[in-house]
Formats: sequence, C-alpha cells, structure tokens
Amino acid sequence: MTTLPEVPATTGKDFIRALIEQDLATGRKGNTLHTRFPPEPNGYLHLGHAKSICLNFGVAKEYNGLCNLRFDDTNPLKESQEYVDSIREDVQWLGFDWADREYYASDYFETLYALAEKLIGMGKAYVDSLTAEEIRAYRGNLTVPGKESPYRTRSVEENLDLFRRMRAGEFADGQHVLRAKIDMASPNLVMRDPALYRIRRTTHHRTGDTWCIYPMYDYTHCISDSLEGITHSFCTLEFVNNRALYDWVLETLDLYRSEQTEFARLSITRTVLSKRKLIQLVEEGHVKGWDDPRMPTLSGMRRRGVPPEALRDFCARIGISRAENEVEFSMLEFCIREALNHTAPRGMAVLDPIKVVVENYPEDQEEWFDLPLAPDAPEKGVRRVPFSRELYIERDDFMEIPAKKFHRLAPGQEVRLRCAYYITCKDVQKDAQGNITALICTYDPESRGGGTPDNRKVKGTLHWVSARHAKPVEVRLYDHLFLQDNPEDVEEGKTFLDVLNPDSLRVVTGYTDASILGMTPGERVQFERIGYFCVDKDSTDGTMVLNRTATLKDTWAKIVAKS
Ligand code: ATP
Ligand code: MG
Repeated sequence: MTTLPEVPATTGKDFIRALIEQDLATGRKGNTLHTRFPPEPNGYLHLGHAKSICLNFGVAKEYNGLCNLRFDDTNPLKESQEYVDSIREDVQWLGFDWADREYYASDYFETLYALAEKLIGMGKAYVDSLTAEEIRAYRGNLTVPGKESPYRTRSVEENLDLFRRMRAGEFADGQHVLRAKIDMASPNLVMRDPALYRIRRTTHHRTGDTWCIYPMYDYTHCISDSLEGITHSFCTLEFVNNRALYDWVLETLDLYRSEQTEFARLSITRTVLSKRKLIQLVEEGHVKGWDDPRMPTLSGMRRRGVPPEALRDFCARIGISRAENEVEFSMLEFCIREALNHTAPRGMAVLDPIKVVVENYPEDQEEWFDLPLAPDAPEKGVRRVPFSRELYIERDDFMEIPAKKFHRLAPGQEVRLRCAYYITCKDVQKDAQGNITALICTYDPESRGGGTPDNRKVKGTLHWVSARHAKPVEVRLYDHLFLQDNPEDVEEGKTFLDVLNPDSLRVVTGYTDASILGMTPGERVQFERIGYFCVDKDSTDGTMVLNRTATLKDTWAKIVAKS
C-alpha cells in the first residue's frame, strides 16, 4: 500500500521543527541549534540521503544554527576516498555548505580509544574472548534473556592489559572484542553488552595501518556528536533501540549530552535505496555506474538533468514524520517538471521521424522562424529554427485512418506546425512493403507564424524539424529501473534483480536543428511536446547525447486529483 505524502507548507511544523522551536525557546539545549549529516563513505549518496541532508542542513539554516558534515568512517573494509569525494560533491551540488566543519570519525580514534580505557577503568567495559558465534548464542533473543560471558568478570587490570595488546596487534582478527558491561537480561537487545571495539587488520583510507582495532558505530556516533557539540542528532527509525546505548555511553562517560531523535526513512516506489543493493546494481553491471541516470543516486539524478532545486522541493513536500510511508515516484517527477518548466529553454526535436514533403513550397527556399524559449516569458528570447520543403514530424502524429478525436495529421486534415505554417496532408507515399515513406502535404502561405487571416481553426499543433537542416542526436530514454512498485516484494527464491525492467533504457536517434548542438554537458532543453532533456557527458564532437530527464506527462497531478 502506498500513501500520499503530505504537503506540509500550510500544515504547520513537522515534529522535528516543533521540537527544535521548543528547545530553542526554553534554552534546554542552549541557544544554538547544531546538527550534522553523518554519511558513511561506503557508497554514493541517494535520494534517502537527500532527505537527511535537507533536514539537517535545512533546519540549521532556518534556525540560524550550524550543520557539520561528518564522515562516519569506522569500517575501513567498505570505505574509500572515492566515496568521500563523491559525497562532498553531492552535498554541495544539492546546495548546502558546511564551511570549515568537515569532520571524520577517524579524527577521533585516539580520543575514542582513551574513553574506552576510561570505561574499562570504571568497570563498565571488558574484553570478551568468546567467538563471534558464541557471542551471538549468548545474546539470547526477545523471549530468552542473554547469558553472561565467562570473561565478563575479568579484572580491570586484565581488561586494560588485553585491550592495550589488542591495539598493539598481538591478537588475530576476531580473537577478542571489547564490550560494554551493561545488562545481559535487558529487554532491549542492544543493551546486552554491545561490542565497542573489534580487531580488524584493514588499511583505513585515512589512518592507514595506524590501527588494527576499530570502534563500533554505536560507540563512535554518540561520542562524535558529543565532541562536536551536536545538540540534535537526527537519524532514521531503525535506530530507535540504539538510542538507549547512545544515552548510556554519554551518560556513563559524563560527556556533553547530544540527543538522538528518529524520523521515518524515505522509500520511493520502483526504487531501491539500500546502499548494498545499489552497489550490487553497479558492480554486477545492471546499470552503467553510480551516475547512471536510472540510479536514485544524487550523481545519477544530476547526470539525468534533475536540478537540485527539484530535489529540495521534493524533500520539502514529502516532509518529516515518524510514520513510515512510501512516496510515489511520480511525485518526484512532478517536482522535476515544476523546476524545469520555468528554466529549461524550449527547442524542437523529432525522435521517430516520418518525412513530410511540402509540395507547394519552393525547393530552394528556406525560412527561419522564432520559437520562444519560454512562451510565458518573452523577454527570454527566441530560438531561430529553419524551415524548408522537406520536414520531419513524429511518426505517431500521423494516422492514415484517423481514430476518433485524432486531431493531428491525417489525409485531408489540416494541422499547425509549431510557430511556422498550417499544412494539409494530400497523399501518402509507401514503399513496396506498404511502409509509409513520406507524407505529401501542402502549406498555406497565409498561415505564416501559426495563424490565418480567416482565423481558420486547426485542432492539432505539431513539432517538426527541417530535414535538410536536421542533425542526428543520440537520445537516451529512461524508464523505471524496476517493474513493480516495491522491488523487494518478490516471491521466495527471487531477488530485486529479478524485477529489473529490461526496457529501462531505450536509445533512439533523434533529429534536431543545429542550435541544439551548441549545448554543453549538463545543459537542459524542453523539447516541445516530448519532454525535458539534458546533454550527457558522453557527447563527443561528432555525436551529441541527450538524456531524457522527464516526460511532460504528469501522472502525479492525476493521482492528486483522484484523491
Ligand atoms: P548503511 O546501510 O551503509 O548504513 P545508510 O543508508 O544508513 O547506509 P549512511 O551513510 O549511514 O547510510 O547514512 C547517512 C545518513 O543518511 C544517516 O543519518 C541516515 O539515517 C540517513 N539516511 C540514509 N538512508 C536514508 C533514507 N532512505 N531516508 C532518510 N534518511 C536516510
Ligand atoms: Mg547507516
């Protein structure tokens, strides 16, 4: 079941903003709001992260606070500098600025280590020598209380000695772990003596081989927040149970008490937003890379031509709540169209051409027409488009035997060519197999510019390009990456990969006029009646490549209208 996202603009504050306003009013957390966005550099950012970025940086901006960018880099196995670089680029692109507040959990490794020794000294942490499997078995489950490890009663001295030797590299990976000594019978499984440190001989992308023990997420995150003076630490709902540990660590170590608040994560129909799955799509070659325009990554969105303001608008519209819901992909497309409608200059292209021969138009003549770049903003100027005797129009803008209410071109039927002339179809030329090769038409010279002195009505307006002037371009048409709303909802034995849409990318050769060829990668255009397009970085001097950013058809408006 999918539910419609709320549009909060007029509905007052979401619960997080309400909390912030209350805290600022009472001074409970001081006078300055301080948030952070804490990505782990183990993948590229996606739309879910955009929600978190817009929240954390957004509230900091709204309430005159600060927001840090913090890389949560405690698992060197999966992390890399490439991911760090991409995250920095994506956050900036989305329109947010962390000034000089770029932090890394790895900057705190020495402090985290010292605090772990402090916990040991307090009798609040111990070195456990059970195997990973035993630890799991001892933990129990929701109905079975945990069992204490036989190593839980080690003396402070022995624990300190072992922990120092763990750091010194005397033990093999997995031989020991440092655990918090909390409560093996706690109804909250997170509190059953969680691991704080593990031995892992892996080179870290920033600290190299300085460390062979690495702190766990739950231990690192709260301390990093506290060290940076984060007042409000927002995270997604799956961390609700971890909040008790977050609080326990800060309280036990008597550190500044940052506070965690959870909100519902974003999920979108026809999309996966799990880094593990996105990595799989990339590594197994189901897409062409992290920035494949079909990917829900920010780099994919950018390459597709989505402007950052569309994503910020999207995040504002879906709002923040504690209720899990699934947002329709068409809602995102709606925001993309909203942003592009006013910014992408118009142009014309034909993607599936059929030739039109204008019989009564002189063979050696050509004319140039003005196509407004923005019909509702004439000051933005015009594009000069050439017209000649032979044109291309879209194949499906013609029907030999027109269906009812088909107002486009048909034998005997008159249509307007956008900003040019009226034409009437007189004859249809076919090859030996019966395929249409050309439409023989006549034009009315009186209709120059799109109207006639007798105010004759025509119902259809078509886009077109002059065949003689037309240049081929490679057009990449994208569709959903998945065939069903929830790609994870598959029958047993299948995975999300089994519901990949085999037609998510269709490449066609389109035709456009030379003015389009001057565009550079990243530039956008709205092709009349077809959709929004963006020049791809794969374009070469010889071939321009265009990505379809969005179609013009607005399915979201229909969904809203129905509800
Ligand atoms: P992992 O599976 O690697 O933990 P993650 O999606 O949690 O991935 P992080 O890099 O840890 O990725 O996320 C950074 C921040 O973005 C976190 O605060 C996380 O809660 C938030 N975030 C991640 N996915 C979503 C989502 N779908 N909706 C909202 N926030 C998200
Ligand atoms: Mg995470």
